[in-house]
Amino acid sequence: MGNEIDGEYMLCCLECGAEIGGHWRIRCDCGGILELWRDFSGMDGERLQQLFEQRLYLERGTVYGSGVWRYKELIAPELPENALTTRGEGNTGLYLSQACAAYAGIRELRLKAQSENPSGSFKDNGMAAAVSHGLSLGKNVFACSSTGNTSASLAMYAAWSGSSSLVIAPASNISPAKINQTTAYGAQVIRFDGTYDDGIAFLEKWGDALGLYVCNSLNPYRIEGQKSIVYELAQQLQWKMPDWIAIPGGALSNVSALGKGLGDLWRLGMIDKLPRIALVQAEGASPFHRMVEQKGKTFVPEPNPRTRASAMNIGNPPSWRKAPAALELTQGVTAAVSDEEIMLAKRVIDRSGIGCEPASAATLAGLKMLRTDGTIDKDETAAAILTGHMLKDADALEELYSGGIMHMPGGEPLSPEVVRRFILK
Ligand SMILES: *Cc1c(COP(=O)(O)O)cnc(C)c1O
Ligand SMILES: [Zn+2]
Repeated sequence: MGNEIDGEYMLCCLECGAEIGGHWRIRCDCGGILELWRDFSGMDGERLQQLFEQRLYLERGTVYGSGVWRYKELIAPELPENALTTRGEGNTGLYLSQACAAYAGIRELRLKAQSENPSGSFKDNGMAAAVSHGLSLGKNVFACSSTGNTSASLAMYAAWSGSSSLVIAPASNISPAKINQTTAYGAQVIRFDGTYDDGIAFLEKWGDALGLYVCNSLNPYRIEGQKSIVYELAQQLQWKMPDWIAIPGGALSNVSALGKGLGDLWRLGMIDKLPRIALVQAEGASPFHRMVEQKGKTFVPEPNPRTRASAMNIGNPPSWRKAPAALELTQGVTAAVSDEEIMLAKRVIDRSGIGCEPASAATLAGLKMLRTDGTIDKDETAAAILTGHMLKDADALEELYSGGIMHMPGGEPLSPEVVRRFILK
């Protein structure tokens, strides 16, 4: 694509409207959060589609074989190729599931299994971009506050690129599997008596002074990288979009990225229509949904967030200001579902042969709810973003399924007669 792409971007403050060029930073002088904007107006959507199509056949493990860097022109054209790190992220399956469609009560439902990413969650799409940007600046210590998946992803890319990582995580309500995965990749993990939100506040205050490259969801490159999820979804559907895309919401970075990515594709004329976004939160951690429901403009954080879906257990999402634009652009809606509804939906997704961690199942629970209240029509189609792998929350598997294992009475030997009783036809 050569010099059609100059790679220039502008950081825009969502608080005071300031436009900052040139200098990299995560917050505006006024304290507002920044969004990265580029001018794609000179680009040819059809040529991009051809380029992205050619790259589909590249070998796994090569930079442009990545499901993030395949779309580099729309994600981070300015980054030098030698700074790009990749574990072959993205390239995840899109599965038509009749069982899940029937559960939601709609005609057609596809599951976009971001759980198939190398560290097991969608966080890899954004983290590949953020760590690459850090590397381009010569940084070699990466840090984040995390409910688990962000830290595992961060630690994986830090290890893979020969850097080190530091993670701050709450002492409780985090899946042990995620923390152990993070440590396994070599991260220094500090657990403390506080929330995810407290950890973010600490890193924002001290990150620079400590020489850390902070990869929280505030980092605009996380959002840029996560846009690849919807680019890939569109490409898998030959650029013909479903009526709805359901996505779970915690820190609200993924929904912002989804909206931004859809906006790019739409403005470039690459997709046939704008799907509506259904953003689903867990009842116990749904401050954004409550604001939307009350048609309010002031965001009231939830001081004591509580949900079994730990990846969404966030009461004060720092980037909530990026989310309304995604809903506005797509005539999106929000919903809040109970932990019980989440676990029921998880059973359906697990049983379908794909599986996911609890937070991801909020998508299916939310679609069902929105179908029941008439927001979604039975003849509409949808895609649900499954954000994390079922093995990420082994405790949830134990709780839900250990009762389903047959235990032979003590002393009774295995025999064909006994085993026959357990064969399902
Ligand atoms: C991070 C995460 C979420 C929430 O995404 P946000 O971008 O924080 O809204 C949902 N599900 C899983 C599995 C996650 O790891
Ligand atoms: Zn500002």
